[in-house]
Amino acid sequence: MPPVIDAAKCTACGTCAEICNSAIFVFERGTDARPRIKFPEECWHCEACVLDCPAGAIRLRLPLSYSLLYIDASTLHNRKEGL
Ligand code: SF4
Ligand code: SF4
Repeated sequence: MPPVIDAAKCTACGTCAEICNSAIFVFERGTDARPRIKFPEECWHCEACVLDCPAGAIRLRLPLSYSLLYIDASTLHNRKEGL
């Protein structure tokens, strides 16, 4: 399932389009337009866009099989440090 962009939070910075290796997003720099999800079926739920979005505007909708094994990547650093 593709990521969902919260239009109220998105600042149209383009970071998500730059970092997504699967080129899910289409973004035209120099405009106020927010990214569009062009290839939703190509998302492999790596969560990079969620972690790198400076506005916290992206959330993922995980398929059931993913959600059963899901680990919030933002918590891994603290686990490694023993915090
Ligand atoms: S990284 Fe976040 S704020 Fe920037 S364009 Fe993408 S969704 Fe919008
Ligand atoms: S979760 Fe990964 S593959 Fe999916 S849109 Fe975000 S950066 Fe791209």
